[in-house]
Amino acid sequence: MSLGENIKNERQKLKLSQEYIAEKLGVSRQAVSKWERNQSEPTTKNLIELADLFQISLSELTHTKETISKTIPITNQHIKCSYCGQKAQYFLDQTQSKAYCSLKCQLSHDMALEKIQKQLKWFYLGIALSVILLFVSAFPNLPFQKNYLTGAGMLCLGMTMILFPFCTPETYQKLGYLKSKKLARVLGYLIEIYALFILFFG
Ligand SMILES: [Zn+2]
Repeated sequence: MSLGENIKNERQKLKLSQEYIAEKLGVSRQAVSKWERNQSEPTTKNLIELADLFQISLSELTHTKETISKTIPITNQHIKCSYCGQKAQYFLDQTQSKAYCSLKCQLSHDMALEKIQKQLKWFYLGIALSVILLFVSAFPNLPFQKNYLTGAGMLCLGMTMILFPFCTPETYQKLGYLKSKKLARVLGYLIEIYALFILFFG
C-alpha cells in the first residue's frame, strides 16, 4: 500500500469526494488527485489535516509498506532523536542523517525544517546588519559615540538569535532540534544583556 492508496481508501471509506477534501484543506482538486495517484506528496501540514479529517492517526495514514521498509531500527542507546534529543528508535533512511524516537517527532521536525527554510533570509539579513554595525563601529573619528554602534550591532545580533534560533548541523545532531533551539535563544538573551551593558556603560 502506498500513501496515495491509503488516502484514496480512507476517503472512499467515508464516501467523501476529492472536491470535498480539496475544499477542506484549501488545495485544488487536482492536488488531491495527484496525491492519490502518487504523482506528488502532500505537505506535512496537509498530512496532519488529512489524518484529522479521516479521524485516524498520522501513523495509520502514513505508515505504508514503503515507509516502513525504508526506516532502519536502532538499538544503540547513544543515538538521539533529531527532534527531541531522547533515545532514537529508527533512522529515516540509509543515509542515517536523521534519527527519530517517534513518528510525531519525525513530522514535527519536518515542519520545523520547512519553517526554517522560509525564515532563513531574515536570519541572514539580521546577521548581515549586525556585522555591518559592528564593522562600522571599529572606524576611528565617528560622528557619535562608538559604544552606541557596538551596542546596536550586538542588540541586532541577539535579537536575530532570539527570533531565529538556528544552530549548526553539529549542534542539532548532538542535542536534537528542540534543545539546540533553546540554547540559541539563551545565547541570544545573554547577548542582549551584554548589548545593553555596552550601550549604557560602554
Ligand atoms: Zn523524539
